[in-house]
Amino acid sequence: MTTYGFLGIGIMGKAMVENLLKARFSVNVWNRTGSRCAPLVGQGAVQYQTPAEVVATSDITFAMVSDPAAAEALCFDAGGVLAGITAGKSYVDVSTVDPETSAKIAKAIQDKGGRFLEAPVSGSKKPAEDGTLVFLCSGDKALFDDAQPALDVMGKKSFYFDQIGQGAQMKLVINMIMGSMMTAFGEGLALGDKVGLEMGDIIDVLAQGAINNPMFQLKGPQMANGNFSPAFPLKHMQKDMRLALLLGDEHDQPLFTASAANSIYIKARQEGYAEDDFSASFKVIKKD
Ligand code: NAP
Repeated sequence: MTTYGFLGIGIMGKAMVENLLKARFSVNVWNRTGSRCAPLVGQGAVQYQTPAEVVATSDITFAMVSDPAAAEALCFDAGGVLAGITAGKSYVDVSTVDPETSAKIAKAIQDKGGRFLEAPVSGSKKPAEDGTLVFLCSGDKALFDDAQPALDVMGKKSFYFDQIGQGAQMKLVINMIMGSMMTAFGEGLALGDKVGLEMGDIIDVLAQGAINNPMFQLKGPQMANGNFSPAFPLKHMQKDMRLALLLGDEHDQPLFTASAANSIYIKARQEGYAEDDFSASFKVIKKD
């Protein structure tokens, strides 16, 4: 039976490993802050001291870390992923990074005889808990097929795109749309509130129309109640907007709305909301 490794036990990683354990897979784990592995060890995971050890003792290792700098550190630092890669080992990076970072990691893994798949996810904390994430994959097709039992447990759908970098590009396009939708939603709620409408009524009216979506219905009541506990940390949303804008720049595609939304997320970070949910952009928009 396949043994899985998992590196990066944050909001997403923890929920994803819990689903692998529930499905009775063997899972080896590592996290930079080791104490965050404790709840998973209690459920049967085996904790290691370095990423290299996890890779060496697992058939397919997943990684779910913050950003491109974290993904590179995880791979290239002493005791990192690369140190554990030998022929036949497989590495699946599900973090959200830019296509260049993904390609750099892919080459390093392949140069050591390993297999690489990039597989960023669409979906947040709740879909991660429910096992309903959507994987946006590109890289080694045989690894995509071999990883399917784990992807099926953690997600509801896996897409495969031919070229390395396309999974990352798809993820950035999707999150850029989401980031802009959230700030537009926040402005609507703020304006409605200013003129004396009930935010709950605005959400109810939205629910009946063509622009309704699960995000408005999930986040709207929480925003109205001032609950910004993190499902998708705002600092990661701003990172995704930044990476999407860079992609637009590189490909000569103006991104008017996303540029404005990004400024709101930057301001929210400056005002101390980096660790809150990305819906905390509302706190920058709505001033009494
Ligand atoms: P998180 O809770 O902030 O977790 C981040 C993880 O990255 C932690 O395990 C952290 O370790 C680790 N990390 C950070 N810097 C590192 C470094 N230099 N070396 C090694 N590990 C490092 O974030 P998350 O919400 O789980 O998100 C993780 C990734 O998934 C991000 O790329 C995010 O954009 C993406 N994503 C998130 C969501 C969401 O809704 N949350 C949805 C889709 C995609 P420590 O515990 O030691 O800090």
